[in-house]
Amino acid sequence: MPHTRAVESRVLLKRLQSALAEPGTGTDAGQKRLDRITGLVAESLVAEVCSIYLRRGEELELSATTGLNPEAVHSTRMRVREGLVGRIAYRAEPIKTKDAQRARGYQYFPETGEEIFASFLGVPIQRLGEVLGVLVIQNRQPREYTEDEVHGLEVVAMVIAEMAESGIFTGPSETDIPRPHALPYFTKGIIGQEGVAEGTVLLHDPHVAIENPVADDPAAERARLHEALRGLRVEIDEMLEADYLADGGEHREVLNAWRMFAHDKGWVRRMEASIEAGLAAEVAVDREQSETRARMSRVVDPYLRERLHDLDDLSNRLMRRLTGAAATNGNLPENPILIARNIGPGELLDYGRSLKGVVLEEGSVGSHAAIVARALAIPLIIQADRITREAVDGDPILVDGDQGLIHLRPEENVAEAFRAKIDMATQALEEYVAIRDKPAETLDGTRLTLHMNAGLMADLPSLGPSGAEGVGLYRTELQFLVRRTVPKRSELAALYSKILSSAGDKPVTFRTLDIGSDKVLPYMKRDPEPNPALGWRAIRVGLDRKGVMRMQLQAMLRAANGRPLRVMFPFVAQFDEFREARDHLLREVEREAKLGHATPSDLQIGAMLETPSLAFAPDQFFEMADFISIGGNDLKQFFFAADRENERVRRRYDTLNVSFLTFIEQIAARCDAHNTPVSFCGEDAGRPVEALAFATMGLRILSMRGASIGPVKRILRSVNLGEAKAVIDTARKSGAQSVRADLMAWLDREGIG
Ligand code: PEP
Ligand code: MG
Repeated sequence: MPHTRAVESRVLLKRLQSALAEPGTGTDAGQKRLDRITGLVAESLVAEVCSIYLRRGEELELSATTGLNPEAVHSTRMRVREGLVGRIAYRAEPIKTKDAQRARGYQYFPETGEEIFASFLGVPIQRLGEVLGVLVIQNRQPREYTEDEVHGLEVVAMVIAEMAESGIFTGPSETDIPRPHALPYFTKGIIGQEGVAEGTVLLHDPHVAIENPVADDPAAERARLHEALRGLRVEIDEMLEADYLADGGEHREVLNAWRMFAHDKGWVRRMEASIEAGLAAEVAVDREQSETRARMSRVVDPYLRERLHDLDDLSNRLMRRLTGAAATNGNLPENPILIARNIGPGELLDYGRSLKGVVLEEGSVGSHAAIVARALAIPLIIQADRITREAVDGDPILVDGDQGLIHLRPEENVAEAFRAKIDMATQALEEYVAIRDKPAETLDGTRLTLHMNAGLMADLPSLGPSGAEGVGLYRTELQFLVRRTVPKRSELAALYSKILSSAGDKPVTFRTLDIGSDKVLPYMKRDPEPNPALGWRAIRVGLDRKGVMRMQLQAMLRAANGRPLRVMFPFVAQFDEFREARDHLLREVEREAKLGHATPSDLQIGAMLETPSLAFAPDQFFEMADFISIGGNDLKQFFFAADRENERVRRRYDTLNVSFLTFIEQIAARCDAHNTPVSFCGEDAGRPVEALAFATMGLRILSMRGASIGPVKRILRSVNLGEAKAVIDTARKSGAQSVRADLMAWLDREGIG
């Protein structure tokens, strides 16, 4: 912006600041401040009207005006999208026109007396992408507002937004604006992991409260911005230069995008212009971020959206540099519940075991982060609308992962009801402890084996307390995912050995590296694939890149060091893949023997059945496999052709769908015919009703997260399996799509809630 305009803008901001700094008196202090703003802005921008519309839910209310009919204040309201003001709020973009009455979307509010004003310029009042209101100036004569004037008004709007956050416009009366982030907020998301928790908000990207949005010394602010940008660029270059990224990969693409943005002249220029106009460097960054977020909400193209997310992340980093706030300052609040837009598995693990729950604004149930949350046994809710914008660090929050409910800043009676639910959950836990050492045996004497799924060393301590009889699925890739370089064989051997030792006599089934699809290793080169879930993943990668698979198999053999060992290959789609992988393992055993190392006292080699094709493999496959484990997460997505990560289609097909259950029944029967032990280790095994249905279909081994063992064992111990099977068979014959309704009704009748 030209120098003179910048100086004028700074003068206006200074006047605003000192007018607002005057201590307010009386209950209408907030209203008086708003009135002062409209007066000052109208005078300074030579406008006959200046009005502030503030958002109340889905409506905008005329909250202060100079020039329009004062009677209209607090009575004129419009919906977001309605009229010019509503459109500004909806699109988060300025509108200017010389002829308001003819402008698209114009709507007439007679009580305001605005019809005599032809020219209109309105800008959104927004903070961190959240539109809080609209600031408008109007003139009687047709007037072409310049870009400098638009920018000047936006700068004022930024200051109003920052000040609104501090609560200086709020007051006690009905017409006053409520204090921001003070009211309870409730939303419903999608269940990522069951469980309930009460705790305190911990924002992954904290909103920084900007104490003084107006800066006295633009040169000093510019210097601060450039210093922060320099640091940011160095940080990105260092990440890019790090050895582990030398191979490329998706992560590198993100960093390259960050680098591009960090050097983008337009981005920097816009922030400099805001500083020139009198804003503090942080507010200049916030302004850019708000625009990015506004664009993000309009863009549908997923690639572009991702890039805008990258830019948003970059702004967060820049903001942290300016305010000196670390990503996590190490001081976690009591019972922290993490709130993030999205998060990777490594970042989630960085918070350690202290987290009591996680709420994501995006995310998907099948993602790694969800798998880690499950491993950490904490409730997870995904796709929680607006949660990162509503929550403030330190807010009290209740998370109900059983129903996907989130209560932020809850009313006391809600909190009490919630605590009653937690108490019930605790009582249930006590009940599970009481049956921990009892068998998972149904009333009519069918004995099942319940195993635990694990993926982190930290999971092992729960093996005993959960009552699991072994580890049915050890996801070795989690170890690879949370690291920045390929682990060494010796490191893996030491880790696997520790796992075997801590499991004691209980068996552990190690699954070889299952990467690809959504599990992307940052240090591994991959070509983009149109359908990664159907692409180069799991055993396909292992057989094509034998080095890593052999290294991992050697590590397992060394870890066993003469003890029994169970190895399972993921995502086997045809007999030959299993045969080839098995041959590799047997060759490694021979090699170890030649080197004079101890070989396993009992080696069991199994396959995961995750593609429908394997269910129809030749008999020889079922004979050769020492055991089979049904990976229901993948099997279900391929059976129904419904992406496990796509929330839109994922829930369309019930696990208790007749076709799927019958398929499971046929797999169990085929395995039985060959005396091949078969288990189910997908997430559904940990859901009591699903587990019961699988048992009726003939499965006798189920593997699930540790926390599910109790609830699953409880239901199995309370039912007569033959009767449950009869209920399911009748439902199957009735032509029902799913047996769920009938099974649930029967459980209800039996008093098994
Ligand atoms: C499965 O697909 O059910 C499974 C257990 O493997 P993952 O969830 O790790 O893909
Ligand atoms: Mg799988």
